[in-house]
Parts: sequence; C-alpha cells; structure tokens
Amino acid sequence: MTLADDDPKMYSWLLMSSTDVGEELRSERIRAHEKHREHSMESWPVLSAERFLVLSEEVGEVAKELNDAKVEGRPIDQAALRKELVQVAAMAAGWVAALDGGSPIHTDGGL
Ligand SMILES: [Mg+2]
Repeated sequence: MTLADDDPKMYSWLLMSSTDVGEELRSERIRAHEKHREHSMESWPVLSAERFLVLSEEVGEVAKELNDAKVEGRPIDQAALRKELVQVAAMAAGWVAALDGGSPIHTDGGL
C-alpha cells in the first residue's frame, strides 16, 4: 500500500509522468554511450566514484542554467533545463541498473 493507492487522483500526475520518461531515459543513456564510447558510464567496469563525478557534472549543468538565467536577467530556458534534468536522471538510472545487474562498482572502494 502506497500513498498513491490511498488517493490515486492526487497522485495521478506522478504516475503518468513516471511512465512517460522511462523510454526517454533509455534513449539518453544510449545517446551518451555512443557519444562517450570507451569513457561511457555504460561500460564496465566503472567505479562508483567515476559515476558520481559524471552525475555531479550533470547536476552542475542544471545549476548553471538556473544561475545563468538569474545573472542574465532572463527566464529559465525550460527546454535546456529539461534536457539537463533528463541527463541527470539517465545517469542515475544507469547507475541503478548497473547495481541491479550485479556490477562490482559498489565494492570497488572508490577511485
Ligand atoms: Mg548535461
């Protein structure tokens, strides 16, 4: 039993949006893998610390868009913000998938 079961109307937006982005995240993981090749976070073995650095870089790019908009006195570029958030989510999803797939990354002791 979850909160969504208690009040499905209240959480319908969450349930809908959750199912909509899964394929987009997979596509982003593939795009990033093809772009970065041997440096891809989809390649094994990849250390947890390496994944964290890349995830942090993507989070930083979200912060950059927000800060640039503020400093430049312009509205947040919603498309750019969304793109960076998808990259954050894709990186995290790939990390979770690696853990679920038995990747040794969680026992490597870091860099
Ligand atoms: Mg990015």
